[in-house]
Amino acid sequence: MSGRLTIAGLGPGGSQLITPEVTAALAEATDVFGYGPYVARVEPREGLVKHASDNKEELKRAREALSMAEAGRDVVLVSSGDPGVFAMAAAVFEALEEDSRWHKLDIRVLPGITAMLAAAASAGAPLGHDFCAINLSDNLKPWALIEQRLQLASQADFAIALYNPRSKARPEGFAKALDVLREASCGERLVTFARAVSTQDQCIKTVTLSEARPEMADMRTVVIVGSSKTRRAGKWVYTPRRTES
Ligand code: SAH
Repeated sequence: MSGRLTIAGLGPGGSQLITPEVTAALAEATDVFGYGPYVARVEPREGLVKHASDNKEELKRAREALSMAEAGRDVVLVSSGDPGVFAMAAAVFEALEEDSRWHKLDIRVLPGITAMLAAAASAGAPLGHDFCAINLSDNLKPWALIEQRLQLASQADFAIALYNPRSKARPEGFAKALDVLREASCGERLVTFARAVSTQDQCIKTVTLSEARPEMADMRTVVIVGSSKTRRAGKWVYTPRRTES
């Protein structure tokens, strides 16, 4: 008998931000797959087998989860935030595309609260008008493309959410990204650094683009660069809904 694969988002960290639908899927599961720290967020219980893996092994993890569902298990593959945002859902469909025998499997994707939305809510409403999201990791795309997207997004006057801004393996990228943004737009734009949103380590800080420093971000930070309209209202940061032509 064929099982099921559920690809689920655990939200940004706080258990209050896990959706009831994801909680129900985890309560029924026989197996949980995912990157170690995310699997650790799932309550252990009898009858649930945890399969933690390294964060470099996404495609392998996706294939293992698919094989186990095919073998009849009720598998949940977890991501942080939303599974479709720079995470495991696309990796599963990449694996699926390679092997048509998996096409008939029962697969569902359950959304989660992605980091930029939790971060925006903590700061006010910096994503209140048109915005985009850019992953600053160049593991799966060339750096030149990242720079081009930063330039074009600034030109289009989007607010920009930057995921994976800085890691030990890529210490220079974020400094370069800030330089590109400063060149492409005015240094007065507001930049919100939102770290470990919804956890006890949460820290939200807003500065101008000229004041932004690479050390203000790490791998637990999502950075929201405002549009030219993004402004402060008291202690809040928001982007008004209206833009005149
Ligand atoms: N699927 C995830 C994103 C995975 S990429 C989502 O939808 O949120 C990992 C990046 O997400 C991190 O480098 C960071 O930029 C961001 N991130 C994840 N959790 C976060 C949190 N609690 N606070 C701030 N940023 C977070």
